[in-house]
Amino acid sequence: MTNRKVITGATLIDGAGGPPTENATVLVNEDRIEGVGLAGSIQIPADAEVIDGSGMTLLPGLIDCHDHLASMSYEIASRWGITEMRSQRHLRVASVLRQTLETGYTTVRDAGGLDAGFRMAVEEGLVPGPRLLCGLGFITPTGGMADRLSPLGFAAPGGPDTGLPWGVADGPEGFRAKVREMVRAGADVIKCATTGGASSTAGLGPKDLLFERDELEALVDEAHKRGCLVMCHALGGPGLRMAIEVGVDSIEHGSYLDEAPDLLPIMVEKDISLAPTFGVYTFHATRGTPHGRARAAALREHHVRSVQVAMEAGVRVVAGTDEGGWEHGNNAHEISCLVEAGLTPMQAIQAATGRAAEAIGLAAEVGTISVGKQADMILVAGDPLQDVTILERGKAVDFVMKGGVVYLDRRAQA
Ligand SMILES: [Zn+2]
Repeated sequence: MTNRKVITGATLIDGAGGPPTENATVLVNEDRIEGVGLAGSIQIPADAEVIDGSGMTLLPGLIDCHDHLASMSYEIASRWGITEMRSQRHLRVASVLRQTLETGYTTVRDAGGLDAGFRMAVEEGLVPGPRLLCGLGFITPTGGMADRLSPLGFAAPGGPDTGLPWGVADGPEGFRAKVREMVRAGADVIKCATTGGASSTAGLGPKDLLFERDELEALVDEAHKRGCLVMCHALGGPGLRMAIEVGVDSIEHGSYLDEAPDLLPIMVEKDISLAPTFGVYTFHATRGTPHGRARAAALREHHVRSVQVAMEAGVRVVAGTDEGGWEHGNNAHEISCLVEAGLTPMQAIQAATGRAAEAIGLAAEVGTISVGKQADMILVAGDPLQDVTILERGKAVDFVMKGGVVYLDRRAQA
């Protein structure tokens, strides 16, 4: 007994950047894509369930390279998880997972706050959700962004959650041990920060350096030995330079990259991706703390310019929202932001599909509609190359398939 599905009639955007194919046929066998081609070129098995995508656009399932699915607020008590019962928080996160999947996001890399149990629950089929890669927690030295104390110097009541190791370490050996601790707790990716940011405390700005070089070298070496990529929050100044020179795998934010153009060829050479995460800065600029608003406004022009020079230099630019904490479920906002910053709609779609999969180490499995990959696909009413904002929440994403399973089908109402 086979479980075959076939999507017919849609215009295919494959995620690899090629020209769209009108009237495409995509054959799915169980969880994988078995055939892709023009109508008529693929034989449709008699027992296949036909999904008519006529008049719609078929794209790979979308990927967010940087979100925080368990973050509900920037308030410290909420971050500590003490504002509601644990069960209530977990069910709230489960609802975010479902909502995110139903808006077309079939893969999300979580940059901290989500414990590995959520990934396992999704894999087990307990809750619907995107494929997850979990970073568990930020890693920084004492006084850095992982060192989340109350203004009076109190740590989270009840101590660190064992599912989310406390991210503070010092000295090279300390960072090696911290990476091991994250991996033991189920981390798929290692998240660190070599600079402050827009939302960090008043004394910890976007160009303030957090790490010693030997500390970062130890962290990157240990992560790579354990098969984990390193995603590094770095906005500008010496911390951004150090991250690129030492060889992290992606720069998160990179807002002041335009001030150090000599770093661009190094990023290309070392295959370091850039996830600008414009989404979160639109919130920091409008709803943030007074210093957060000022920082977000000050960096905006540099941020846009940084992405433009990175694209020109051939750096892989990918979509990550970092919006969790402000709001959930509109991850495609980032695709619109990338177009606003100067990417073509096709480049912005690649940034959230094929290029994103490369950046997070899943290029063999997801990101493009090609034979052998996971059947992660969405159908959109309309043409996102004409208006990319139709990918945003509540607009035109009417059908979502992940691993061959249909999680949303609103085609009838469309
Ligand atoms: Zn983040």
